[in-house]
Amino acid sequence: MSPARYLDRHQADLVTFLQKLIRLRTVNPPGENYGEITTLLAATLRDLGLQVRRLPVPRALQKKTQPELLDYPRHNVIGFWDTGAKKTIHFNAHYDVVPVSGKWRHGSPFNPVVENGWIYGRGTADMKGAIASIVFALKALRATGIKPGFNVEVSFTADEETDSTLGTGWVTSHGKLRADYAVVGEGGEGDGVCCGHNGVVWLNVRVHGRAAHGSTPEAGINALEKMSALVLALNGYKQRLAQRTFISPDGRRMHPTINLGGVFASGEGGKVNTVPAAASFSIDRRVLPIESVPDAERELRAFLRAAAKKIPQCRITIEKISDNFSCYTAPTHPLFGAMRASVARVRRRPAKFIVSTGFNDMHFFASVLKIPTIGHGPSGIDYHAVNERARLKDLTDSAKIYADLLMTFKG
Ligand SMILES: [Zn+2]
Repeated sequence: MSPARYLDRHQADLVTFLQKLIRLRTVNPPGENYGEITTLLAATLRDLGLQVRRLPVPRALQKKTQPELLDYPRHNVIGFWDTGAKKTIHFNAHYDVVPVSGKWRHGSPFNPVVENGWIYGRGTADMKGAIASIVFALKALRATGIKPGFNVEVSFTADEETDSTLGTGWVTSHGKLRADYAVVGEGGEGDGVCCGHNGVVWLNVRVHGRAAHGSTPEAGINALEKMSALVLALNGYKQRLAQRTFISPDGRRMHPTINLGGVFASGEGGKVNTVPAAASFSIDRRVLPIESVPDAERELRAFLRAAAKKIPQCRITIEKISDNFSCYTAPTHPLFGAMRASVARVRRRPAKFIVSTGFNDMHFFASVLKIPTIGHGPSGIDYHAVNERARLKDLTDSAKIYADLLMTFKG
C-alpha cells in the first residue's frame, strides 16, 4: 500500500487524534495545559519509534521573560527519526491556541465536532491540524515500510500566539536541533508554498502634556493636540514607506505599512474640564520579508523623535510592545522545487511560491538557523475567530504532501 492510500483509509484516525488535541485547551495567553499536551505528543512520537525529548523551559529563564506566568510552565517536544541518513529535514508546528469568545456553532470550541467534511474547534486550523498531518505523514511512512532519504526531526512548540520566545525561539537556540531543512506547517496553504513572511514592530508612543483647568487651557500642554500633530506627521512617513516595494515570487507587489492607534488612550482621570496631561497610541509597522526588523524599528523611532521635536512642547516616550522578524529565501534551493511538485501532485493543480503577510515561526529556521525553510500546511477558515474549522480532506492532503516530500526530495 502507498502512504497516500494509507492516509485515505485512516482519515478517521487522524480526526480522532486531532479531536484529542483540540480537547486539551492550550489557550495562550496564559499557556494552559502545556504539560498535558506535550506529554501526549511525546508519547505519540515515541509510539512512532522516534527518539523523543520533552523539554521543559528552565524556570529561571521563564522568570526572566514572563514572570507573571510562572504557574504555567513551558514545554516543547522534539522527536528524531534516525534513518541513518547524513541530512535531516525538520517539521515544526505550534500547539498553543488563541483565547476564545463568541457563540460557537457546536457549543464549546473545545468540543470538536465534524460536520459536512469539516472539523470545528479552536486550533483545528491554527494549527493543531498541521500537527495531526505531520504525525500521520510519519505514521503512513512507518506503516508502509518506507524509509525517507533523510532523518526526520519534528518539533511541537509553545507560545507562537504570543511571541515564540520560549517556544520555537528557544528550541532553535537551545534544542540542539540537527535540521538541515525546515518545513513549518503554516504560512502556505492550498496551492501556495510559502518562502517568507512579513515581520512586525509594535510600539506604543506616549505623549506627555501638562494638566490645567479647562477654563485656562493656555496654562497647560494638551497631550491630545500634541498627539494629533504627531499622528498627522506620520502621514509623510506612510507615503515614504509606500514607495518601498517587494515583489513576491507570484508577482504580488507588497509595501511596508503602518497602522496607527489600534490601541489609543488618554491618561488617568480624564475630565471634560481638564487639559489632558497624557495621551498614547500604538503603531503596528509591518516589515517586508526583505527588510530588517531592527532597522525598521530604529528608523521608526528616529522619525518619531524628529517629528516630535518639530512640534512645540511635544515630549514623547516610545515603548516597544513586541516585534517579530521577517524572513525570505529565494525559492532556488531544490527543497522548494520538491515541495512545489509534492503540492501539485497531491492537490492536482499547479502550485506557486508565495510570501505571507502575517508572520509565523519560519523566521527562526530561515534567519536564525539559516536553513532553507518552507511554510505549508492544511488550510482553514476563521483563524482566531468564532467557528474556526479545517477541512478533513485538506488535513489528509497535507499529510500526503509531507509524506510525498519525504519520499521524493533528494537534497
Ligand atoms: Zn499559527
